[in-house]
Amino acid sequence: MEQTRYTVRNKYSDVPYEVKEQLFREVKSDLRFTDYLYGCYECGICVAACPSARFYDFSPRRIAQAVAREDVELIYEQMNDDVWECSQCFSCNRCPRQNSPGGIITVLREVAVKHGLRSAKEALGAYGRVIYKIMSTGTQVSPDMLQPDAFPDWGPQVLDVSKNLDTWRKAIPPETLHTTETAWEIDDKTIIELYLIWHMTGVMNMIEKVDEGLYTILMDVMEEKLEEAGYSM
Ligand code: SF4
Ligand code: SF4
Repeated sequence: MEQTRYTVRNKYSDVPYEVKEQLFREVKSDLRFTDYLYGCYECGICVAACPSARFYDFSPRRIAQAVAREDVELIYEQMNDDVWECSQCFSCNRCPRQNSPGGIITVLREVAVKHGLRSAKEALGAYGRVIYKIMSTGTQVSPDMLQPDAFPDWGPQVLDVSKNLDTWRKAIPPETLHTTETAWEIDDKTIIELYLIWHMTGVMNMIEKVDEGLYTILMDVMEEKLEEAGYSM
């Protein structure tokens, strides 16, 4: 059962109200926003469907309500303390009001990343190497990369997974059975297009806000490839 959480209002009183209001304006101006929120019955169906609500003090209902009421202070608090608990499974899309609490959370997260909020830096910190692999190669992290020397920052569980990788791979769907050899075949035209998309849509600006070190090494890789292809940064 969902727990009631009594919010300590103005937890982030050191942040000016105008800053929080501006962030909420950005959330509301997102093109997806009107499709994700139509009001809230407070029925709690989204909470019943939400896997994260079972394990954390987290509620998609609270987030939908705060956004529907335009509670700027609470939304800012949720952007810092709550939105990173969502696993983006979108089970909450069964909302009878046609809301998508998971979609709202996506937008809140994106605004948090764009503004380099501390919570965004902390939440994404552990994924730096994954983001680097995906963005530098234009493709995915394949299961055979789950080796402790590849991801020492993922802790001891990676060692357990790597020892039993054959068993794990029998349990997962065939389309995920890529290896670094099969999954990483990507032609130059595609990778150049991806690099340009990430630059032109502001993804690189977002990376710079949350992880300057990662931004620098990605820029090195991308600049070389783009310059070879005749683009100047
Ligand atoms: S967001 Fe939808 S499912 Fe969740 S409490 Fe509100 S109306 Fe109910
Ligand atoms: S998308 Fe997030 S909020 Fe919605 S059900 Fe999944 S974990 Fe819960």
